[in-house]
Amino acid sequence: MDRTPFYEQVRDRLIRYAQVDTQSARRSDTVPTTKKQFDLAYMLRDELVKIGAAEVWLDEEKCVLYAAVPSTAAPGKGVAFGLVTHMDTAPDAPGANCRPWVLEGYDGGDILLNRAQGITMSPRDFPNLKHYAGQDLILTDGTTLLGGDDKAAIAAVMTMAEHFLRHPEIPHGRIALGFTPDEEVGGLGKDLDLARFGAKVAYTVDGDYLGYYMDETFNASHATVTFEGRSVHTGTAKGILVNAADMAAAFVRDLPRREKPELTEGREGFFHVVSIQGDVEHARVDLIIRDHDADRFAQREQLLRDLTEKMRKRYGHDRVDLTIIPTYRNMKEVIDRYPFLVDHLRSAITLAGLTPRSLPFRGGTDGSALSHRGLPCPNLSAGYENAHGRFEYVPIPSMEKNVEILLHLARLFGETGA
Ligand SMILES: [Zn+2]
Repeated sequence: MDRTPFYEQVRDRLIRYAQVDTQSARRSDTVPTTKKQFDLAYMLRDELVKIGAAEVWLDEEKCVLYAAVPSTAAPGKGVAFGLVTHMDTAPDAPGANCRPWVLEGYDGGDILLNRAQGITMSPRDFPNLKHYAGQDLILTDGTTLLGGDDKAAIAAVMTMAEHFLRHPEIPHGRIALGFTPDEEVGGLGKDLDLARFGAKVAYTVDGDYLGYYMDETFNASHATVTFEGRSVHTGTAKGILVNAADMAAAFVRDLPRREKPELTEGREGFFHVVSIQGDVEHARVDLIIRDHDADRFAQREQLLRDLTEKMRKRYGHDRVDLTIIPTYRNMKEVIDRYPFLVDHLRSAITLAGLTPRSLPFRGGTDGSALSHRGLPCPNLSAGYENAHGRFEYVPIPSMEKNVEILLHLARLFGETGA
């Protein structure tokens, strides 16, 4: 496989970034959820200054990093656009002491990740590996995640920025860069200051598979149902005892049986019970609701209200309570109003020699929230594999391709009338 001029840059960057532990935390009272995310923010800030980026600024309170590649387009040409990547890694697998290494010319067979502990990665378990035979891969030692999610994207974005800063003769519009914390724990880019960011449209660069893009996510909310019972001695309970645990079980039983994550795919939505806690006196059910379609999503929320009402009629109004908190909304209703966003992205992927593909994403992104905050923000895949686990890996050519895609994308925006 031929190396591009970006090979060493993306390789060395990912290896350097991966060794900084930036794991975020689900339960935390601090902003960001873990202070160690600043370690990478400082590293990137210094690097941006060194490669000559403009407007480099780190929000030392919120841990959001900003920079820009100034426009080189002809007067009256060039639309500004932004790129958003996240600095944290997922809390689902160990993140400290990551020891990335490069396997050159992967032969398509089993990969010994860790001789001492006998950890092997096999295409039998991870069939996608077969697509990367002949390529150079960045791997873990089998004991930590790699953090290619999302550092493979950061490596590509930084390499693109350095290329443009070295070649001001290439025309492109202003490129705003934003690096966010806590994406993996639902941060949703909420602390990204859109005025400072300074672009009216953007893309997140995140997600697995190369050449994929995403302009559609779930609508999402979190529901909490609480039940209040009345406990008395079971010997004299007839007609008096009210069992909150029983009520919680009945509520869960009444949910549509087949609409669960383990039984749905594509654009099928679901209810997912994440926890049931309780005893006779108090019980609580937490569930999440997901659907791509806004109407069906509203119907799902209504079903929970109806079930609550049904139980109130049976057990008494004060005994059942429902709270629904919105989490994020499908980005598509916003992005569809800016068709050039996906058109440019598809063209850039095609110009890089790939076939653009899209899947309705069964989750949310920083872009789901940013789109609804007024920054339309589809996603370009970062090209990592097996994210959030110890078998995560990144094919170096996937990062090189992403640099190419981003360069094409910037040129397309540079040719657009301002
Ligand atoms: Zn990610």
